[in-house]
Amino acid sequence: MTALEEGALLRESGPSPAILSVENLKQYFYRKGGRAAPVKAVDGVSFSLLHGETLGLVGESGCGKSTLARSILRIYTPTDGRVLFEGSDITRLSRRGMRPYRKKMQMIFQDPLSSLDPRMTVGEILLEPLAGNRIGGSRAERLLRAGEILGQVGLSRDALGRYPKEFSGGQCQRIGVARALITKPGLVVCDEPVSALDLSIRSQIVNLLLDFQRELGCAYIFITHDLSVLRSVSGRVAVMYLGRIVELCPGAEISAALHPYTQTLLEAVPARNPRLARQKNRPPATGEVPDPASPPEGCRFHPRCRRAMPVCKKTPPETRAIGRNLVCCHLY
Ligand code: SF4
Repeated sequence: MTALEEGALLRESGPSPAILSVENLKQYFYRKGGRAAPVKAVDGVSFSLLHGETLGLVGESGCGKSTLARSILRIYTPTDGRVLFEGSDITRLSRRGMRPYRKKMQMIFQDPLSSLDPRMTVGEILLEPLAGNRIGGSRAERLLRAGEILGQVGLSRDALGRYPKEFSGGQCQRIGVARALITKPGLVVCDEPVSALDLSIRSQIVNLLLDFQRELGCAYIFITHDLSVLRSVSGRVAVMYLGRIVELCPGAEISAALHPYTQTLLEAVPARNPRLARQKNRPPATGEVPDPASPPEGCRFHPRCRRAMPVCKKTPPETRAIGRNLVCCHLY
C-alpha cells in the first residue's frame, strides 16, 4: 500500500492532519544463533491515522497486530521502515529521546488485572504516569486529578486507597482506562480491551472509550480479533494477515469487504439468527496460519484461500484502491 493510495482514502476523511504515519514498517525477530530465518511478525505495513480517528486493527491471533502496536509505541525498535508521530520520526529514538512522547502515546491492555501492579494502590497506579511525565505541580494536585478521572470512569474517589484485587474485571479495566488517559494522550492503543470481559460489561467499556475520545480528541488503534466489536467503534478498519495489511476500508462498510480473508473473518462473526448461525458454522479459512518465518510465495493467503488462482501461488498481489477500499488481492 503506497502513501499515495492511502492518502486518497484519508483525504475523504477530512482535513485533519495525521497524528501517526507508519511507513513500510518491519519487525523481525531473530532466533538464538541467528542462523534460522527470522520471524517476520510485521513485514511492510503502511498506514496513517488522523487526530481523533479510530483505526480498527483486526486479524487472527499471530497475524502481527500486537507486535505492530508495540513497534509503533517503541516498546520494540523496528527492524526497518519509519514511524512518524506528529510529523517527528521516532523510529530509532533512544529511551531518553522517547521520554517526551511517552505521555502522548498510551496503551490499554487485554487482561485488566494482570496489567495493574498488585502491590500498588489505585492511587499509586494513577499517580505514577503523572509524576513520571512531570504533570501536576504537587502530589496534592496529582491526587485531585486522579480522583477526577476515577469519577469519569465511574468509580468513587475511595478507590484511590484500595488494591486492584479488590475490584471486578470490569472495574479493573476502568482503572486501566483511567491510567492510560490520565496524561491526556493523543494516541491510545487499545489491545483487545474488552475481549477478557463479560458481554454485559463490554459495551460499557467501549462507550467509556468513546466518551473520552469525544472529550480529549485522542486517536485510537483498536486491536481485536472480533469484527463485530469494530463496527461500533472504528472510522476505518485495517485487516492484517501474516504481518501485512491486506485490506483497509471504512468501518461502516466492513460487511461489504472485498478481500477473501476479510470475508472469511466476517463469516466467523456469530449470527444472532439461528439459521444464519448454522450457515456460518464453518471455519473462517481452511488450514492453519503458515509459519511467519517462511511465509508462502505469491499471495501469503493462497494456501487457505477458497478463491485462489494459479497466479496467486507465484506473484504477490499489489494493493489497489477499489472504491473506498484498499485491497491487496489478484481478484481486483
Ligand atoms: Fe485469494 Fe488470490 Fe486474492 Fe490471495 S490474491 S486472497 S489467493 S484470490
